[in-house]
Amino acid sequence: MKVTVVGAGFVGAACAYAMTLRGSCREIVLVDKNAARAEAEANDILHATPVSHAINVRSGSFADIAASSVVVITAGVNQAPGETRLALLARNAAVFREIVPQVLQHAPDAVIIVATNPVDIMTSLTETIAGSLTGRIFGSGTTLDTARFRALLGEHAGVDARHVHGYVIGEHGDSEVLAWSSVKVAGMDFGEFCRSRRIEFNAATIAHVDDQVRHAAFKIISGKGATAFGIGAVLARLTETILRQERAVHTVSAYSRLHKVALSLPRLVGEKGIIDTIGIDLSGEENLQLEKSAGLLREFTAKL
Ligand code: NAD
Repeated sequence: MKVTVVGAGFVGAACAYAMTLRGSCREIVLVDKNAARAEAEANDILHATPVSHAINVRSGSFADIAASSVVVITAGVNQAPGETRLALLARNAAVFREIVPQVLQHAPDAVIIVATNPVDIMTSLTETIAGSLTGRIFGSGTTLDTARFRALLGEHAGVDARHVHGYVIGEHGDSEVLAWSSVKVAGMDFGEFCRSRRIEFNAATIAHVDDQVRHAAFKIISGKGATAFGIGAVLARLTETILRQERAVHTVSAYSRLHKVALSLPRLVGEKGIIDTIGIDLSGEENLQLEKSAGLLREFTAKL
């Protein structure tokens, strides 16, 4: 089971490292226009294999990605001082117009996972370049935000976060929607669960968790310059879902016919990518927030 990671920067390296420690696959190829960086990261990660999993980690060119089952794209350019979001978007779009055709040519059967930001728009662009809306291409979307939401809810309720189910949907960004009305622990609504355990749950709890999830990236970037470990682990988990032919539910980003733009919703993911989108119960307010988030994404996608 071969996986390619295009972009061997902070996110690409963290993704390959997480895959190595988790034993997600048997072979990883790192591709970057900075070949020396890709080679250095591949060698560094390879040295973790004797104490983790027997994985062949190497760097290469697009010719080396043939027969990859999954290609994760993390390549991108950084925001220059004073650069607008739209100008950054245009530069990242140029990077994708260079990379995606090469991926499609050399690994035509691979599932493509996009992580580069703004991830919903880069996912749309990848779908457009490939001319495919079959679910074989998707973005990591709000998978990371959902993980952050569940981690905080688990901490608050004193429950292993793997047993807390809840979703962040919409844009991966400021307008994302924390779907509080569908959070469940042991089949109970989150508020009901907290009450049954005499744990405080009120407007202040909601505001605190919302702030921690929505502004997590900003706070991490202020402290260390980039976010990498959380997204790296999430990308490894998404890759495993495909390689192990699971039917797992992830809030990944793809074109939604209902919202007429790529955004995240809970989706059933398997061997060939997205199998289906799952409808969840949302409150009237959450539905309005989701429509607003979709509107913002439509506006940006149209500008591109
Ligand atoms: P980085 O600058 O460390 O790495 C980007 C890499 O892309 C660099 O090594 C660069 O050489 C490479 N690259 C640029 N153009 C290329 C091309 N044409 N072909 C091949 N490689 C090319 O950045 P990073 O911190 O790793 O972040 C990467 C992307 O991931 C950013 O867009 C970032 O915003 C995004 N990100 C997404 C999430 C998420 O939840 N989706 C989370 C964190 C970061």
